[in-house]
Amino acid sequence: MALVVMKFGGTSVGDMCRIRNVAKRVAKSFDNGNQVIVVLSAMAGETNKLVAMAREMEDSPNEREYDVLVATGEQVTISLLSICLQGMGYKARSFLGHQVPIITDNAFSKARIERIGDRKIREALDEGNIAVIAGFQGVDRDGNITTLGRGGSDTSAVAIAAALKADVCDIFTDVDGVYTTDPRLVPEASKIDKISYDEMLEMASLGAKVLQIRSVEFAKKYGVVIHVRSSFNDNPGTLVMKEDDEMEAVLVSGITYNKGEAKISVFNVPDQPGVASQLFSPLSQANITVDMIIQNVSRGGFTDLTFTVPRTDFKRALTLVKKAAEEIGADGVETDENIAKVSIVGVGMRSHSGVASTMFQALAAEGINILMISTSEIKVSCIINDKYTELAVRVLHDIFGLAKKDVKEE
Ligand code: ASP
Ligand code: MG
Repeated sequence: MALVVMKFGGTSVGDMCRIRNVAKRVAKSFDNGNQVIVVLSAMAGETNKLVAMAREMEDSPNEREYDVLVATGEQVTISLLSICLQGMGYKARSFLGHQVPIITDNAFSKARIERIGDRKIREALDEGNIAVIAGFQGVDRDGNITTLGRGGSDTSAVAIAAALKADVCDIFTDVDGVYTTDPRLVPEASKIDKISYDEMLEMASLGAKVLQIRSVEFAKKYGVVIHVRSSFNDNPGTLVMKEDDEMEAVLVSGITYNKGEAKISVFNVPDQPGVASQLFSPLSQANITVDMIIQNVSRGGFTDLTFTVPRTDFKRALTLVKKAAEEIGADGVETDENIAKVSIVGVGMRSHSGVASTMFQALAAEGINILMISTSEIKVSCIINDKYTELAVRVLHDIFGLAKKDVKEE
């Protein structure tokens, strides 16, 4: 008998009819002889509504009460699914975070899971129940309700799969899996059959919004294989798992882009110890994350520094940077908000050379100027003018052979 975790996202439980479909799918797995744990999100749009209500009452609502409120969306779906399953003749029991319990720290609205009690769930399963658990929520050691951050029910599902040593962790969503790039930009984008944790982390942080990043970190730490798949069909989705030789053979697994950053350059910075720290410390103190940083070789005792920050923090960052630049005696500050970051991701890069130069050539052939470059072991990113984003993503997708393979008769 296998123990399976089945997580359904907001669109999959978006209305009564869809909840019934989820119940059928869950029942089928149970009928196949599995022990089944279901983890649910709130109905699509519900959490947004709750957040808006809290904000309508107060600009920055009390954090404890905010979590009490936004955690309620999942209470609705777990009870409805349990009622539905019982109506179909199955034994089902719903569990809120504190009833499991899913113990977290007390960082309201972004709590981290510390421990999951498995006894009650096991008992429920052994008594022949389908266990239906609220995603997104937990409880701190003082009994306060906490939530795990937006999209957190993915992390709930993976953590529960790890704690109960489940054989399968299926994440059912409204897409067929993880794609080689955004299908809205490139219709030829193809579904990836399997992807390593590290690639998925790069893809997620770069904007492929299929899984909450933290769920992938969790899965990597505990070796949980995640199967991302559609709740509307039976097609196999994407396995997110440990790297294997087959993955190494593929040069590039996916192309991502991010239009959410802005670029700041500081010119003629005196080349002395401590200047970078003087520039960047105020940003980190203001909780502004700096992404790419480039410092040029100094000439005549002066150097130029260019870096990117989230566009949403751009105005705040600029004020801080201008002040710091003046203090360290730099010459001037220039900015560019119309940039995009285009990245190629793949574990195959580790063992193959020439991947980056293929990328640069492909962009050059289209006359796209590269403003900044950064690389890691499994990723190369280029900053370009954002009006070329689509073109860049398309040519890179093409040059690395990621398009759907046509099925042809010999
Ligand atoms: N309902 C929560 C949200 O919308 C958690 C989730 O769906 O994963 O963020
Ligand atoms: Mg989600």
